[in-house]
Amino acid sequence: MDASAALFSRAQDVSPGGVNSPVRAFRAVGGTPIFMSEGSGAWLTDVDGNRYVDLVGSWGPMLLGHAHPAVIDAVSAAIGRGTSFGTPSAPEVELAEEIVARTPVDLVRMVSSGTEAVMSAVRLARGFTGRDTVVKFAGCYHGHVDSLLAEAGSGVVTLGIPGTPGVPAHVTADTVVLDYNDRAGVEAAFEQLGDSIACVITEAAAGNMGLVPPEPGFNQFLSEITSRHGALLISDEVMTGFRVTPSGQWGLDGKIEGWAPDLLTFGKVMGGGFPAAAFGGRADIMAQLAPAGPVYQAGTLAGNPIATTAGLATLRAADDAAYQRLDGASAQLQTMVGEALTTAGVAHRIQHTGSMFSVFWGVDAPVIDFSGAQAQETWRYSAFFHSMLDAGVYLPPSAFESWFVSAAHGEDALSRLAQALPAAASAAASALPDTTEAKR
Ligand SMILES: *Cc1c(COP(=O)(O)O)cnc(C)c1O
Repeated sequence: MDASAALFSRAQDVSPGGVNSPVRAFRAVGGTPIFMSEGSGAWLTDVDGNRYVDLVGSWGPMLLGHAHPAVIDAVSAAIGRGTSFGTPSAPEVELAEEIVARTPVDLVRMVSSGTEAVMSAVRLARGFTGRDTVVKFAGCYHGHVDSLLAEAGSGVVTLGIPGTPGVPAHVTADTVVLDYNDRAGVEAAFEQLGDSIACVITEAAAGNMGLVPPEPGFNQFLSEITSRHGALLISDEVMTGFRVTPSGQWGLDGKIEGWAPDLLTFGKVMGGGFPAAAFGGRADIMAQLAPAGPVYQAGTLAGNPIATTAGLATLRAADDAAYQRLDGASAQLQTMVGEALTTAGVAHRIQHTGSMFSVFWGVDAPVIDFSGAQAQETWRYSAFFHSMLDAGVYLPPSAFESWFVSAAHGEDALSRLAQALPAAASAAASALPDTTEAKR
């Protein structure tokens, strides 16, 4: 038994399914998880000493690659001064200033996870509007917030759980689920429920059902219709924030189309690999938050000095050149994957927003919503995934996840990918549907 398998066996004795987040268990692609012990730049090393080009990037945070010297130096220095004070500290102010400067938020509150950011933003939207109904889109994932675990993406899609046990029906009773990119659906919902809708929450660009960008003008449409009905627009930039552009998806289309969400949520990149997240927005809305206002929200480790130092170091080191490397590597990789799949005769769609992208398997029309994403031939991805893994490339272990490149993905990483792709594309071409999986 290799060291990864041995650790997984021990993990299963002490943790449900042997993991601390479901998608890590490889259930969507089969096989058993690889335990990593080191990361450097674009590369990960597992506990058996195998090296992989990493295209997961810790699910988004590692914008600069692993163990970036600027981040490691800043964190090492900060740790020597103590790890948590339970008082305000300078790094959280500096990180908040950086976020306010880059995004349309006036005020920002730090929390420890994207889930917590979304949960708090929804509470604030309900408190501010005095309304209860929340509109979300099928296939959009906003963390494991009870009221939003209806037709969510990410691990929930992968596992095929329709919602989840443990969430009482009354908790999702005020959640309306619509199709992503469906303007008519949103208009109908507002016509019917306009007076009771507190907010529409959307991923700024959907990245948790595979990558499904908003159609041009969709976010702007959401901004207009919410404001017309006295509801708020929450744009979830936990995944896209500080990655798609220095100011997230908003920097890509909000600036151009001339709109801004009322509230935004952030996470992943802003923690630089540590647990840090945030929500923020218009000053009059944020002023309703305790202690300034009556809507309660709190966190023992919120604004933690180490996590905020790591996030700040990441954002400061991510200069224009870093974003250019990131976007360039991503574009190159998308071309390589597309060519390999075409050569092997695999029908596919590659969709992206900025450097984030994913591949839809056995699909040849644009995917614009969750039902389109679910129509893909996931078994082709399982075969592709394992072929790439054997060749030293670590991909997201589910066809419904975005692929994350970093600014550290250079020639060595791309040439490993170029070597691995032809065989993986052939494996995808000859893969057969897993009927046992379908029956389960
Ligand atoms: C990852 C993610 C979350 C949840 O963040 P966690 O830190 O995992 O709780 C919320 N929204 C989106 C869009 C995400 O991608």
